[in-house]
Amino acid sequence: MDYGIDIWSNDNFFIDNKKVKINHKSKPSLVKITKEIREKGIRGPILLRFPHLIEKQIDLIYENFKNAKNEFNYRGSFNAVYPLKVNQYPNFVKNLVQIGEKYNYGLEAGSKAELLLAMAYNSENSPITVNGFKDEEMISLGFIAKEMGHDITLTIEGLSELKNIIKINKKRFSHIPNIGLRIRLHSSGIGIWAKSGGINSKFGLTSTELIEAINMLKSAGLIEKFTMIHFHIGSQISEIGPLKKALREAGNIYAQLKKMGADGLKSINLGGGLAIEYSQHKDEIKRNYTLREYANDVVYLLKDISTHKKVKEPDIYIESGRYIAASHAVLIAPVLELFSQEYTEEKLKLKEENPPLIQELYELYTTIDSVYAQEYLHDSIDHMNSLLTLFDLGYIDLIDRSNTEILVNLIIKKAIILLKDKDSKELLQIQDMIQERYLINFSLFQSLPDFWGIEQNFPVMPLDRLDEKPTRSASIWDITCDSDGEISYNREQPLFLHDLDVTKEDYFLGFFLVGAYQEVLGMKHNLFTHPSEATIILSDDGYEIKNILEAQSIIDIIEDLDYDTKEITDILSKKIENSDLIDDQAKKSILGEIYLFLNDNGYLKTIN
Ligand SMILES: *Cc1c(COP(=O)(O)O)cnc(C)c1O
Repeated sequence: MDYGIDIWSNDNFFIDNKKVKINHKSKPSLVKITKEIREKGIRGPILLRFPHLIEKQIDLIYENFKNAKNEFNYRGSFNAVYPLKVNQYPNFVKNLVQIGEKYNYGLEAGSKAELLLAMAYNSENSPITVNGFKDEEMISLGFIAKEMGHDITLTIEGLSELKNIIKINKKRFSHIPNIGLRIRLHSSGIGIWAKSGGINSKFGLTSTELIEAINMLKSAGLIEKFTMIHFHIGSQISEIGPLKKALREAGNIYAQLKKMGADGLKSINLGGGLAIEYSQHKDEIKRNYTLREYANDVVYLLKDISTHKKVKEPDIYIESGRYIAASHAVLIAPVLELFSQEYTEEKLKLKEENPPLIQELYELYTTIDSVYAQEYLHDSIDHMNSLLTLFDLGYIDLIDRSNTEILVNLIIKKAIILLKDKDSKELLQIQDMIQERYLINFSLFQSLPDFWGIEQNFPVMPLDRLDEKPTRSASIWDITCDSDGEISYNREQPLFLHDLDVTKEDYFLGFFLVGAYQEVLGMKHNLFTHPSEATIILSDDGYEIKNILEAQSIIDIIEDLDYDTKEITDILSKKIENSDLIDDQAKKSILGEIYLFLNDNGYLKTIN
């Protein structure tokens, strides 16, 4: 059982000696790193960041476009910017900027906050592009960035933004940022995110508006500043076809605008959308192209259009985010409990005289063998249903009911063990019928919000015991009190995990490809916060654990909701002071305890 690692991991991880290892330099196992961090007292979920995987993706993008440019003898330049909305966390962004410096890899901002981050962190000589809706303040901020020396392009989404640029330019500033126009294409993307492109999309100028924009720019004397057209057909483009269609359309618009006197126009910005393969199952593979194909198609098509239309080959900009960020982060979360772990033989309380069905269950349990396992299991489930009805009608008592639950669960476990080594249809049928619930110390809302919101699957696998066949069909439960905090067993994409005794061993699940969008979309449902995180730097003879950040404390998250935290501590202290139930001696130490709770994070602190 390899959990589809060859499909989704891109050779970033591999299985060796039972464990998931990192395929880089000293190749340590994820379990080893996890245990080392936990030895520092950190519990609950941990997000590991791997800067070498950011570097890998950046290198791949620049290499593939360089090769494509050489192959087609393309004379325009290739440039990339990273869209901050995909992940704005400092331990990601700062590494990214540093790694990208050698390529002049820039940043893309979609809000005032992101623009300020870009102005602070973007490396010198690297471009900044600004998309999204902008008010006068945000446009002024763009002008300020220009005057600070940034190579910045403000992409306008509508004519009113252009009016504001013209107005602000006259009022205050002597240096003007480059201007980009977002075009509204009639071709659109496919998949869940296709809303970003297409004729009915939220963004971009129609052809009528484009003509008007050119006229406005000309009469304001700013036509030279108009340098870029931009489009973005949506995220996670699974098929290359729609992108090619969009490129043809954009290439023709580019040529037309140049003919209309847009002399400064020199770049086409394709936005993002490069897809990541999240699937763990061969028949669920979504992406139908490689990066090489993407780069070749882009360069070839733009070359072709430019040649035919006799315009200069445009400089190419891309804004891929998911492709750069997704693989760099792995969430590691401990299993806290298995639903059936309470059901052990010692807990049976069989009576002298048991109801006949329970007696039969007991016999099924003691005599089950591999030949009749499935049949016995069916019988036992029938018996259980009858016994539960008898309980409802008052014919059997709570002890009988408990014995029923225990016996049925023991029969299930035994049946699975008996069938384990046969690749039998029976085992599959049992697994399909009865799943084990794994309670995991994490919040799905916080750490995998796209699973909750748009049913995006993420690869998941145990980090150890990979030499053993996992026998339990698994559903994953998080620790929020919300019934949606579950990744239920899916027959089409089944997840199998190992049977285990959590009191005797640690068992960790890794959730992979969580570095794009998940962190900042994460919700504080039940007031669980961003998990603890660490950055792992691999070297030839080992690794270094850097920038360990513990999950936010309870007092901080309460403060984020705008509670007056002093008021809360005052109220709690007063209530303890005034309680007749606590003796005076204990009051002080209880106050201390409350203080510690408030300053710790909210994830569970069992041994796991
Ligand atoms: C979101 C966004 C991107 C990034 O898209 P990915 O699918 O993550 O590559 C790029 N450009 C714009 C304008 C966006 O809105």
